[in-house]
Amino acid sequence: MELPGQTGTNCRGIIDEVVTLAGTRLHPRNLPEEGQTDMSVRITLLFLLLTLTLIGAARQAPAPKRKPIPPKTVALTFDDAVKTHLTVVAPLLKQLGFRATFFITQKWMEDQAYFLTWDEVARIHRLGFEIGNHSWTHSDFGKAENGAKLGAELELVEKELAKVGVPKPVSFAWRRNAFGPEALEQLRRRGYVVARRGMQPDVPYGAIQVGPALQVKKHHPLLIPTTGDAYPAWTFEHFKKVLLSAKPDEIIVLQFHGVPDEKHPWVNTPPAAFREYMTYLKQNGYRTLALRDLWQYYDSARLPDDPLLKARCCAK
Ligand SMILES: [Zn+2]
Repeated sequence: MELPGQTGTNCRGIIDEVVTLAGTRLHPRNLPEEGQTDMSVRITLLFLLLTLTLIGAARQAPAPKRKPIPPKTVALTFDDAVKTHLTVVAPLLKQLGFRATFFITQKWMEDQAYFLTWDEVARIHRLGFEIGNHSWTHSDFGKAENGAKLGAELELVEKELAKVGVPKPVSFAWRRNAFGPEALEQLRRRGYVVARRGMQPDVPYGAIQVGPALQVKKHHPLLIPTTGDAYPAWTFEHFKKVLLSAKPDEIIVLQFHGVPDEKHPWVNTPPAAFREYMTYLKQNGYRTLALRDLWQYYDSARLPDDPLLKARCCAK
């Protein structure tokens, strides 16, 4: 993965080549015989002028463009470390050859009947899925006083993941979709490159509506919106409406919780419905990605100046 500040560039190579050529031209063994001097000096000066112009152009050349987004691209995300992520979701996604991100929080882990243990999180990682950070306490990080504590919480999750052999995450999911500038700064400091928010503030929490599809020129990678937040009242028709909402060059981002989610029924997805959604994606040629995969579609030298970077959203 190409990380921020590591933009590939060919400028250096071009400059080196031109400088080498100029050096060869001016080498003593290449200097002209007497009588040819005037013309040769002119040619050399012209060559130097051309060289400097090329160097200038190379320096001003735009950074490499981001990768084009193929149509029917969908990011799949699963929050809260629910046990059914291992027993229902991961096996089905593996069977379908899908990529996805599971966002882990310690908040409910003591309830081992319904939530994952760290060892089970590691099993999901070994199946090939991305493990993302969803904070230790699952607090409202939209609030300034909590935002400053996010760094320490991210680290607690990272340490537990390291103990079971899961690499440090680069993806984060905002709890209850609330975000604020203090927490954003903590994400940057700890090297997170992508973070998913909810449909808010574009669409109110709990509404059966379609959220924004990701536009990489508009939405900052640490504030990637949710296009479809799977509530129990979702219908198959609504699911298709979410998918069809993406225009060319946009990405659908889906947010699920447990399948089923007995402890948090307001975000439950029934397994039969989930199977229907995933089968539809497979049969209709959708490409499913983990959240970290979305970074490749950003032009890292020109991240969007998203007005939400300075905003505080959705805190209750
Ligand atoms: Zn959550």
